[in-house]
Amino acid sequence: MHLSNRILDLAGGGDAWAVYFAAREMKAAGEAVIELTVGEHDFPTPSAILDAMAAAAQDGHTGYAEIPGVPALRQAVARRVTERTGVATGPENVLITPGGQAALFAAHTAVLDPGQTGLFIDPYYATYPGTIRATGAEPVAVAARSEDGFAPRARTLAAAARKTGAKSLLINTPNNPTGAIYGRDVLEAIARVCQAQDLWLISDEVYDTMIWDGQHLSPRALPDMAERTLVVGSMSKSFAMTGSRVGWIVGPETTIAGLSNLAIHTTYGVPGYIQDAAVFALRAGPALEAEVSAPFRRRRAQAQDLLARQTLVKSIPAQGAMYLLLDIRATGFSGLDFARRLLEAERIAVMPGESFGTAAAGHVRVALTAADDSIADALARLIAFAGHCAG
Ligand code: PMP
Repeated sequence: MHLSNRILDLAGGGDAWAVYFAAREMKAAGEAVIELTVGEHDFPTPSAILDAMAAAAQDGHTGYAEIPGVPALRQAVARRVTERTGVATGPENVLITPGGQAALFAAHTAVLDPGQTGLFIDPYYATYPGTIRATGAEPVAVAARSEDGFAPRARTLAAAARKTGAKSLLINTPNNPTGAIYGRDVLEAIARVCQAQDLWLISDEVYDTMIWDGQHLSPRALPDMAERTLVVGSMSKSFAMTGSRVGWIVGPETTIAGLSNLAIHTTYGVPGYIQDAAVFALRAGPALEAEVSAPFRRRRAQAQDLLARQTLVKSIPAQGAMYLLLDIRATGFSGLDFARRLLEAERIAVMPGESFGTAAAGHVRVALTAADDSIADALARLIAFAGHCAG
């Protein structure tokens, strides 16, 4: 039977995921592998959130919930955004979605017609091109450079927008896979490009509670940006709720109304008891967020110490999120070859930079998602292995 081109064209990944699958197979065969591949906490959702979820379900919040989101959750997200960004935000500016991923798809659907172009920055979170393609639009990557700490250059962005006639630009700060946080200068330059080229800005801020160095600034808070910015947020990373599938889009009221209509025809909303748990978590606020992000802060500091003792493996400054991007070009290997050999020789699984586009070739991404001792052991062995390769 025929499948649509849209579905067939979604497939991607290819070789770049080979290391990940090989590590999974080794583990399934009973081998001891330190897996530092996937961006998921190595601990479950805090029990207080699960208690709130169970109580809400027992209370009967198990039917269809309001499709744009239950009022209390839209309100809680609006309050959080207002407090953290200073931009007056009400429940009418918030759509609750089944996670950040569904928010990314909905946001692009809202602003791109089939055949139009959506820009995104390379290196990128693996789903980005497929998400844009899934809407029928054309994804175009704009490369950032290792020498710039992987912050995009405004001139390159403007040139890509002019050349393609793009209608949107997707950015991600704090960034997966690079750990970079875009500073005010970078965001102001991006905002100027969006205004000059009349682009929607889709700002993926799912790591906004994992800030180790510097400050997170939402570009929606920059002058005249609120009306052209859609912010993607999520409970996944901030509250260790990856499996609960709850996130949001914050944007102009009319866009949210349109997106609410899209939700009627696609997701039909998010379970009420999950939304109630999210309300509980957001009301618990910064203390609970700090508890969830603390292990990553600690592991990142520990990793920086280890990396500072040598010069062969260079670290892109990990300012936020749950990853380290390591420049291993001095070994002479590609990220893919290095990751393959590291898995083979040391039973340590990391993601090749090539999994995230072309700009991070010659790098590997280390997810800080295992016990502190395992990460320290894996990094020490990775550094020694790099020395062996280079030597
Ligand atoms: N954006 C980025 C940059 C991510 O890393 C992820 C998850 N790894 C997501 C969005 C989607 O997360 P979720 O759907 O769980 O909210």
